[in-house]
Amino acid sequence: MVLAAWRTVPGSGASESLKRPNRIEVAELQALIKEARYRDAITRTMNIFGLNLLGGFSALFVNDQEPYPDDAVTLPDISVVRFTINAFVSVPWLARTIFHERVHIQQFLRGDWGRTDSLGDWVNEVEAYDRSARVADVLGLSGAERQTNAALRSTYYRRLDASYRLRISGGSYKVKTEDRAPGAPTPPTE
Ligand SMILES: [Zn+2]
Repeated sequence: MVLAAWRTVPGSGASESLKRPNRIEVAELQALIKEARYRDAITRTMNIFGLNLLGGFSALFVNDQEPYPDDAVTLPDISVVRFTINAFVSVPWLARTIFHERVHIQQFLRGDWGRTDSLGDWVNEVEAYDRSARVADVLGLSGAERQTNAALRSTYYRRLDASYRLRISGGSYKVKTEDRAPGAPTPPTE
């Protein structure tokens, strides 16, 4: 309904401009998680790390009941980002999860949103993991968390074909037209 407005949001966000939290802020976030105040923890993490989910994309849902494999899911139309209990294992991992989902929203907005279970989907994932790895220090990820991020990245990278791997080695995560999700925005140049 407001697709035209979405295109006005800045593109891929090559410079991430995140803020590193101080000890007091980390303690505050840890307390919110410990008290199971998940929505507050998400909101404060976004504020403290400078991780705005871009405009109206703040609908949050925390599933702490059902077993669920992922940390968070951005719905195909990016209207809702769902967080599961898995996202809250640590403050850095929560920040990483928000950051990861924000990359997906940026992909959608810039016209690089892949069809579900396609090469486009997988290149979207590889980009989100790669960009998370680049800000690992600011997020404060532990060695184990960095390894988890890298392992998840490789599960998607393995599925890519040679042409997408070549693009990535050249720094491009663009999704080919045939791999884009139907109905999603297209790149502004087209
Ligand atoms: Zn993802």
